[in-house]
Amino acid sequence: TPPELIRNFCIIAHIDHGKSTLADRMLQLTGVVEERAMRAQYLDRMDIERERGITIKSQAVRLPWAAPGRDGKTIDHVLNLIDTPGHVDFTYEVSRSLAACEGAVLLVDAAQGIEAQTLANLYLALENDLHVIPVLNKIDLPAAQPERYAEEIAHIIGGSPDDVLRVSGKTGAGVKELLDKVVAEIPPPVGDADAPARAMIFDSVYDIYRGVITYIRVIDGKITPRERIQMMSTRAIHELLEVGVISPEPIPTVGLGVGEVGYLITGVKDVRQSKVGDTITSAAKGATVPLGGYRDPRPMVYSGLYPLDGSDYPLLRDALDKLRLNDAALTYEPETSAALGFGYRCGYLGLLHMEITRDRLEREFGLDLISTTPNVVYRVTMEDTTTHVVTNPSDWPSGKIRDIVEPIVRCTIISPSEYIGTIMELCQSRRGSLGGMDYLSETRVELRYTMPLGEIIFDFFDALKSRTRGYASLDYEEIGMQEADLVKVDILLQGEAVDAFSAIVHKDSAYGYGVSMTAKLRELIPRQQFEVPIQAAVGSRVIARETIRAMRKDVLAKCYGGDITRKRKLLEKQKEGKKRMKMVGRVEVPQEAFIAALSTD
Ligand code: GDP
Ligand code: MG
Repeated sequence: TPPELIRNFCIIAHIDHGKSTLADRMLQLTGVVEERAMRAQYLDRMDIERERGITIKSQAVRLPWAAPGRDGKTIDHVLNLIDTPGHVDFTYEVSRSLAACEGAVLLVDAAQGIEAQTLANLYLALENDLHVIPVLNKIDLPAAQPERYAEEIAHIIGGSPDDVLRVSGKTGAGVKELLDKVVAEIPPPVGDADAPARAMIFDSVYDIYRGVITYIRVIDGKITPRERIQMMSTRAIHELLEVGVISPEPIPTVGLGVGEVGYLITGVKDVRQSKVGDTITSAAKGATVPLGGYRDPRPMVYSGLYPLDGSDYPLLRDALDKLRLNDAALTYEPETSAALGFGYRCGYLGLLHMEITRDRLEREFGLDLISTTPNVVYRVTMEDTTTHVVTNPSDWPSGKIRDIVEPIVRCTIISPSEYIGTIMELCQSRRGSLGGMDYLSETRVELRYTMPLGEIIFDFFDALKSRTRGYASLDYEEIGMQEADLVKVDILLQGEAVDAFSAIVHKDSAYGYGVSMTAKLRELIPRQQFEVPIQAAVGSRVIARETIRAMRKDVLAKCYGGDITRKRKLLEKQKEGKKRMKMVGRVEVPQEAFIAALSTD
């Protein structure tokens, strides 16, 4: 297809604003999916995506569309709809998907208005110079207020409220007009057809039958099957087994030229060999300069993952090995905890990535898991100028510390204006500093804060939601590192530190953490035969203390007299209970206590 007839675009939207449903209508309207084969959220393939309504992996689908071209005559065009992951953890993948497009449909729920994720992705789109088509969705809803939110959108992106298209992904109203507008307004791709091939990888997924499927956007030249290609970041050379387009099933083609979007298969078995953002060129007479913007995936949040049942450890290892094939950002290494036994220290892009991974391990591999408090990456410099990268409280160095730096993010919060006070209070208590505030309309406001990532991963989102009755939305991006006064707080049972409960917190929060953790544990740990002091300590300084009083626990005392079977039953029951106990020194701690103490409430 000549580039003039191609339009590459994506849909950016806040979660639940109707991106998947609109994509469904586009598939139907362009005849790519027949009426009877249609099922809801056609492009969201993973079960977990459907259940949670999120899109984890971006997909690209080719849609034929006859529309008036530049000269007014109706002509067949090719639209490539590139689906972007919607969540903050995947900002880099979103930015690569956007970089594969010339335009974006900004989709806003006509009953909700612009939300934080919409804005964050809009900024990314504008940074990538995309042409933005504003659209209000769900106009069929009785609660829709298109006039009001069209004003809001115009206020943000400029232009007139009348330019904002109104559609319903549910009824299909306005979708044809939208596709025509995509052709009319989004610029066609430009590239040098005679230059050495350069294509950008915007996604790669692992398929058990075919190995890694790599999604690419060709910038220059042509990629043809049965040539050899080179990954420019690693110089690795791969044989091409297949090149094609997705519409909506994979269809092999004779090649992909300038501006085209499609997939290729090389037979590699691990997505790390086909990295998002990398440039592909021909192995022979290839390009010498890669496309800009490549970045290695880098974990931002670490947490320990342990099987509830210690004998599941090998199962956990196999499961992680399998997940890794399809997840270039997941890292893990073995870790042992005195309290929790054998497990893995896992690195994730963010909290959602962590949740999804744990969820998949439990659901797809039948594991029962316990995860420790998440941790960001700190850099600690000692007086003697040695530095430590700390992703785990147990790696906190002892000795004289000169300084500590921690990752900082820029947050965007959108909320009804009545909650400004409570949001500011919350952000301040999390060491946030206000960067700016804008009214989107008379009743809705955008707040910008810089805040330590470490404060956000600690139940910030839940706190924000509960203080704003669920109305506030949040998005954030990392902007760098900043010095901070942090300490490690240890929790000791009978003088013995329980590694799973250690935490790195700001100096001013150490006391609060110590008090709440010791109080929680006093409730959770049953009485023992002896007194158990619970202490919170920074170094050797105790900052909080609780005590579990001793109790003489004699199960047999109840059954005076001779019924031997009843006695045996009780003893067995007690033994079974013990299996789910973990020993910390001499103290028996039920597994439930660990789970409860590690969950934020
Ligand atoms: P996504 O998270 O942006 O992909 O949103 P979905 O497409 O999954 O839609 C979220 C919810 O909104 C689903 O329950 C849809 O059925 C509903 N929805 C999507 N589009 C429309 C629409 O145009 N009208 C109405 N009434 N509901 C819609
Ligand atoms: Mg979706």
